Amino acid sequence: MTDLARSLREKLEGTHRISALPLLSEHVSSDGTVKWLFDVGNGNAVETVFIPEADRGTLCVSSQAGCAVGCPFCSTGHQGFSRNLRTGEILGQLWHAEHQLRGRFRLSDNERAVDNVVMMGMGEPLQNYAALVPALKVMLDDHAYGLSRRRVTVSTSGVVPMMDRLRHDCPVALAVSLHAPDDALRDDLVPLNRKYPLRELLGACVRYLESAPRDFITFEYCMLEGVNDSDVHAARLVDLVRGRSEDSAGIEVSCKFNLIPFNPFPASGLKRSSPQRVSAFAALLQEAGYVTTVRKTRGDDIDAACGQLAGEVQDRTDVQARRSGRSIAIQPVRMSS
Ligand code: SAH
Ligand code: SF4
Repeated sequence: MTDLARSLREKLEGTHRISALPLLSEHVSSDGTVKWLFDVGNGNAVETVFIPEADRGTLCVSSQAGCAVGCPFCSTGHQGFSRNLRTGEILGQLWHAEHQLRGRFRLSDNERAVDNVVMMGMGEPLQNYAALVPALKVMLDDHAYGLSRRRVTVSTSGVVPMMDRLRHDCPVALAVSLHAPDDALRDDLVPLNRKYPLRELLGACVRYLESAPRDFITFEYCMLEGVNDSDVHAARLVDLVRGRSEDSAGIEVSCKFNLIPFNPFPASGLKRSSPQRVSAFAALLQEAGYVTTVRKTRGDDIDAACGQLAGEVQDRTDVQARRSGRSIAIQPVRMSS
């Protein structure tokens, strides 16, 4: 940057570093989903997933190496918490995806490869608030990525005080990982519920809607066979969001549901609900008047589906080769100086 004074450049050289995230591997699924594994130092790695759709692409970005919340159905949760990513490491995932895919799709300067960012990779974004918010601001800034607020989504397991801060600091779209219709079950599935129970979480959702770019909260619900997927659970879920159950304490939330069939990983001891069960559960929510989608499982042949991200550093080429997905294992490379 020769437009800066030499003295300033020398000073910055001593204090700042500009580099891309070191890439450890790239895997491409048979459905076009791409998963990158980045080295974030000290044996830690994080994963980023690009999910192509007909007219756009969604990037699933990580916010932490590991996660401290410890949900039993999540591979990242099983791994425990290593550290928060820095703002540059969060943005570096978007930078890498945009640069890689731009070349691959032969896009012109005014086109972009990623037009949706979801903070649904590894980690609990609202437990890394200080680094997250500046990253979100760069994603939204017209001089940077220029994404619309509606197309940047923070997914949280329910860190209530930070939901309140986010609506003031940077109100992007919000997804809340619910997974259970009452406190008793949610205490087990999302341990953070013991600190911020449902009535507090629902209250924070209603407050968030005052400044949200959309007029609903998306509730994510991981479908676990025999755990949270019965008709009774669906009926209780409707009562909860209508403010009619004991745990919701009269708080009604304008919402949509996104059902995620559980993606298994070794040692979870849990099973995915059958497609019939998922459809029946979805139908009950729809009959009650709630828009409900079932998330398509993308990239599971390369372990890139929700909850399968564990940032494993070892080369799994052999495992991949036995599966249907095409895989490319890349030796650790420095992407820039
Ligand atoms: N920590 C944040 C964001 C990352 S997880 C959160 O919990 O919201 C993104 C979504 O994937 C969450 O809804 C999470 O509950 C869900 N998820 C985690 N493990 C999963 C699994 N094994 N199968 C399906 N969904 C899972
Ligand atoms: Fe953390 Fe989200 Fe996984 Fe729970 S589901 S352990 S909050 S990453």
